[in-house]
Amino acid sequence: MTSERETVEVDPTLFQAVYDSPASLPGRHRWTTPEADVRRIEKLLGMPPRTIGAPLWVSGDQPDCPKCGRRITWYDIVASTLKGVHDPAMIATVILGDRRYVNTGLPAAIPGVRCSDCRSPIDGLRSFKCHNWAYAFEELTAIQQRMTGN
Ligand SMILES: [Zn+2]
Repeated sequence: MTSERETVEVDPTLFQAVYDSPASLPGRHRWTTPEADVRRIEKLLGMPPRTIGAPLWVSGDQPDCPKCGRRITWYDIVASTLKGVHDPAMIATVILGDRRYVNTGLPAAIPGVRCSDCRSPIDGLRSFKCHNWAYAFEELTAIQQRMTGN
């Protein structure tokens, strides 16, 4: 991997440090995916209802679709992702698996997300995370050093 953007599998302690960091949800707003959308994600991915129990966080400068006003959530991200980037099994593995992943080297916005109601491109999202998937907005080594007290 020579790309600066990477998804790295990390140990649970380092993951927790990234997850708990206020920097993990950048942008003016942070919100969780409402129950109804979580159920729709399960349906979309072919999971039994109520499989997903942990909160699915989203953050950014603009929570709502600029055209139709829909609150953009993990549902829109997952539905957009299924249009090409990842297959449902991969997403289900990430959401439900027991491995912890951290994304590093982030773009300013999450690319390729569209509103699931009106299909408008969404560019107001900065980050999303769940209990085993988070973005690191600082160097992992810096976080590790803080954890060990240098
Ligand atoms: Zn919309």
